[in-house]
Amino acid sequence: MRIVMLGPPGAGKGTQAKMLAEKLNVPHISTGDIFREAIRKKTDLGLLAKSFMDRGELVPDDVTMGIVKERISEPDCQKGFIFDGFPRTTAQAENLDGMLRNLGISLDLIVDIQVRDEEIVSRLENRRSCPACGMVYHLINNPPVESGLCDSCGELLVGRVDDTRQVILNRLKVYEEKTEPLKAYYSGKVETAQFDGAQEIGKVLEQIMEYLGRYQGKSEVL
Ligand code: AMP
Repeated sequence: MRIVMLGPPGAGKGTQAKMLAEKLNVPHISTGDIFREAIRKKTDLGLLAKSFMDRGELVPDDVTMGIVKERISEPDCQKGFIFDGFPRTTAQAENLDGMLRNLGISLDLIVDIQVRDEEIVSRLENRRSCPACGMVYHLINNPPVESGLCDSCGELLVGRVDDTRQVILNRLKVYEEKTEPLKAYYSGKVETAQFDGAQEIGKVLEQIMEYLGRYQGKSEVL
């Protein structure tokens, strides 16, 4: 199953993608996570990515396509994958189409998670994540049991540097200008399912799984 998670920053793409990947037993590919890992390791890619990410701008397409090409050629992607935060521009989507065509495969589904802008700003300002295992929390809606510490591994939770109000607003603007047009791009090309991301995390997952169950009925791919 090859899925693209689409939706604004803070819609819950990462959280849903992670859970879906586990259920479907396919890799979760988050270009944002790959960049953050490169920043942590202080590689050349990290250094370059950081200069864009800190401002809420997109990393240039050629750099992003390079890492995606490398990642999807790894053996674990043969059974499928879930893209989270990629593609983010029409150029990336076109490039991905070419890449998949060369591999003789195509996307199965676009999962479009929708949330209002005001809700997003509140979510991202209150987002904390675990630098060790990647678990994501919300200080009000989904706080850790012990304040400031990861429930699963006990690490100190951190806020993302790009989750400040000014950068969040820029990320939303960039999303509207560059990523939202992907809906039109995929319309009529790849099946798209919309979900209300304002609902509880478990509810959204349930609805996506339900949809996938119906999809399975229609197709042999899953
Ligand atoms: P995310 O974790 O998906 O919210 O991404 C965080 C940041 O990483 C974005 O604001 C961009 O600066 C960068 N980024 C992640 N994915 C992409 C992509 N597909 N294309 C360009 N930049 C990206």
